[in-house]
Amino acid sequence: MPATARAARPAPASADAGGLEEARRLDGADPLARFRREFVVKDPRLIYLDGNSLGRLPRQAAPRLREATEREWGGRLIRGWGEGWFTASQRIGAKLAALIGGAPGDVVVSDSTSVNLFKLVVAALRARPGRRTVVTDEMNFPTDLYVLQGVIELLGRGHRLVVAKSEDGLTVSEETLARAIDADTALVTLSHTAYRSAFVHDMAAVTSLAHRAGALALWDLSHSIGAMPVELAAAEVDLAVGCTYKYVNGGPGAPAFLYVRRDLQESLANPVWGWFGRRDQFDMAPDYRPAPGILRFLVGTPPVLSLLAVEPGVDLLLEAGMDRVRTKSVAQTEYLVRLWERQLQPLGFTLNSPRDPARRGSHISLGHPEALRIDRALIDEMAVLPDFRYPDNLRLGIAPLYTSFADLHEAVARIARVVRDRRYERYPAERPTIT
Ligand SMILES: *Cc1c(COP(=O)(O)O)cnc(C)c1O
Repeated sequence: MPATARAARPAPASADAGGLEEARRLDGADPLARFRREFVVKDPRLIYLDGNSLGRLPRQAAPRLREATEREWGGRLIRGWGEGWFTASQRIGAKLAALIGGAPGDVVVSDSTSVNLFKLVVAALRARPGRRTVVTDEMNFPTDLYVLQGVIELLGRGHRLVVAKSEDGLTVSEETLARAIDADTALVTLSHTAYRSAFVHDMAAVTSLAHRAGALALWDLSHSIGAMPVELAAAEVDLAVGCTYKYVNGGPGAPAFLYVRRDLQESLANPVWGWFGRRDQFDMAPDYRPAPGILRFLVGTPPVLSLLAVEPGVDLLLEAGMDRVRTKSVAQTEYLVRLWERQLQPLGFTLNSPRDPARRGSHISLGHPEALRIDRALIDEMAVLPDFRYPDNLRLGIAPLYTSFADLHEAVARIARVVRDRRYERYPAERPTIT
């Protein structure tokens, strides 16, 4: 599906395949290399491979926040609402829309991904009365599964959650989904890129499966936006949500976004009736009436400082261009897979991500029975920050705007050192509360 995948394969491996020379050559030829300077890098020795959980701080974000606090909040006070705060959800939503193949007016920034998912799942199920199943897969993110269970319990209309199984623990085939979707399906909702394996669903094909059965399709783009081009309108997607603190670099807890296909906006209802989603909000009328268009999916006062901090990261992605970001991401995951093959597979690591770059997002999961303790040793003594995902995955996230090929080369050398020197053995095997 991502059309750039094939063309993006790096040049044939040289004699030094995966070596430092090759990393330097690839960095030298990288048209996005200059974007690394647009991020705050306090410790050049630290290799950051967790941009798929929390993106780095864009250099422009701190000055923007300083302006928003000191000049706008400090000086302009309540006037700030009329000078950009009130429309920021729409303005930044319009920019995000350009990253995911939507038009301005199809996307707003609001709430968290979990809450947006709740709003759109309820809206979708009510738009398909009489249909009783919600189809998802077992690779979906936990919060998505919980929200679906909670909505079904809340509505109390006997909906059933059908969780399609993965045959190999990494992917879920279209055939499996096709078997799960039928005339009783109200909604098909999936994470476009699976958080654990990085498997990427064929969005257009699965959306079309849903539509042929008369169901709606809702995609969680949290692990896709900012990592690859997404074409919501071309794929005729009905609904989408996603977060802005991963590859969009919006900051910890940054507000999320939601997308509703233009021709559905007027017929779907937000289940949370707040004043920001009301028509003519400042009439302060006693009864709720939905605002026109996408605005009805807003709820209450946005966290303005966090909202404004999202914009610099979005601007960098727009400037870089999602096709170029994807091309580099594919070249980097391919490079990392080659490094794994040569240096980490012999040390007991398995590749827990798809081989085919067209069906793979921007991280690589490596399985190892000691992944938890290896992760801790990397963080504590090797200045590498990957993350650990239960039960045995070391996730190496690649953010093409600031990850270099040399980073990947050095990270793999450090991972190999931790295993070869058995450094992980000094760490307890109990899982810390936060991973
Ligand atoms: C990160 C992520 C979330 C996070 O949801 P929050 O409400 O921001 O905690 C949800 N879904 C997916 C697929 C994610 O990757």
